[in-house]
Amino acid sequence: MSAVAYIGIGSNLGDARFNVRRAVRALGEAGCVRQLSSLRRTVPWGRTAQPSFVNAAVRLETLLPPRELLATLQRIERRLGRRASYRWGPRVIDLDLLLYDGMRIEEPGLLVPHPRLHERSFVLEPLTEVGAFARGSEAP
Ligand code: ATP
Ligand code: CA
Ligand code: CA
Repeated sequence: MSAVAYIGIGSNLGDARFNVRRAVRALGEAGCVRQLSSLRRTVPWGRTAQPSFVNAAVRLETLLPPRELLATLQRIERRLGRRASYRWGPRVIDLDLLLYDGMRIEEPGLLVPHPRLHERSFVLEPLTEVGAFARGSEAP
């Protein structure tokens, strides 16, 4: 049985729009990308003295359980050139697991729904675009 996951994507280093598009393509490794939101320019959150971000979200149909999905997201981040930085600092790519099949997960290193999702319009707006809050959104 496949699951429906929502992934948040952000970039503010190099060609940010290009990096987001590369990440969307790479997400094909994690499953089937069913819908991509618009790409929006957003002001940095948390630490504001850095370049603006490009943010988007996708709805993904996946066979991977949550842990394996997170590991895949992290592998894609590394391959696209993400390097360790300070918290909420500039990054080539950031892939967050926002929602997974209506599940609630509280494990070390994995919190779903993403704990800061509700505070961030740059996450909520793309999520809405890809149907995360629509009735029946659990269907692929
Ligand atoms: P934020 O989490 O506030 O968006 P961030 O994306 O900059 O900040 P990262 O440095 O990318 O944070 O990730 C820090 C840790 O968050 C990762 O090591 C990962 O294990 C953990 N984490 C917990 N829940 C999630 C989730 N739902 N999606 C992605 N990472 C998560
Ligand atoms: Ca993030
Ligand atoms: Ca992250």
